Amino acid sequence: MAATTARPSVVPKKDLESFQEHLNKSTRILALLGAGLSASSGLPTFRGAGGLWRTHDATSLATPEAFGRDPGLVWQFYSYRRHMALGVKPNPAHYALAELARKKNFLTLSQNVDGLSPRARHPADKLKLLHGSLFDVKCSDFFCDYLEKNNYTDPIVPTLAIPTDESDPTTNSALAARELDISDENVAIPELDYDHLPKCPKCKRGLLRPGVVWFNERLPSDVLEDVDTWMDEDDIDLIMVIGTSAKVYPAAGYVDIARRKGARVAVINMDKGDAPASGLYSRDWFFEGDAAQIVPELLKSVIGETNTEELSDAAQ
Ligand SMILES: [Zn+2]
Repeated sequence: MAATTARPSVVPKKDLESFQEHLNKSTRILALLGAGLSASSGLPTFRGAGGLWRTHDATSLATPEAFGRDPGLVWQFYSYRRHMALGVKPNPAHYALAELARKKNFLTLSQNVDGLSPRARHPADKLKLLHGSLFDVKCSDFFCDYLEKNNYTDPIVPTLAIPTDESDPTTNSALAARELDISDENVAIPELDYDHLPKCPKCKRGLLRPGVVWFNERLPSDVLEDVDTWMDEDDIDLIMVIGTSAKVYPAAGYVDIARRKGARVAVINMDKGDAPASGLYSRDWFFEGDAAQIVPELLKSVIGETNTEELSDAAQ
């Protein structure tokens, strides 16, 4: 997905007023975040058509089987993704949502693994990462429970540095731009064996692996339990669906449950066709455009102005 271009998103005044009136009196609020929010920070995603990293289908690298077969290759893919994510900043929507979490009983469910919400200092107990994080690392040994959160070391081990070819001047000068071209194969990557990959400091035996949920893996049960507990506690007044079509499980299910518990739905998305599977009701809102602009404006009545210049990035 390409970075979004800077185009002012205008929120219709009538919709803004009715949303804020509802927001102000809402006591229990849920948000569901997806890749569109990361795209607003300029981060390419590896989802959908063209999801290639070099010659590899990105989805074929995101499995426990791929890691078992070639952990060096899988780590290079994830080291690259960590590097890319650290090259962009949380956007005003990440900061605005973090501030709302400090002001209201507000739970955020994120499908993003890019670490941008944690870096915007979103309160950790109010942020549920359904698919884990690129910046969590855990032991791949079945019998070891080692987990480290918010590890922003780039590269995580020296051998996983993005390679540069010193002998080729065109490589160095164009490297920054090339890193955005996920299909580029011109920069050779070294083959890495067990000895050169990050090891578990606890059991000293297992390789560390990215703390993301791979295909063929279950979503983290502790996270799902926390979400279920919060959802069951009481009625829900509002669910904001931001940068995701919420058409796949479990995201789609959370919209339905919130609705059954009384929630009105607000969708913030670049693409007007991207409404949740259950559709939109007359009392819902659809705000079309860049989440980085729209979300801070929507939440202003509760959190005030969002000035990202004054806000700190936990990765720096
Ligand atoms: Zn271990």
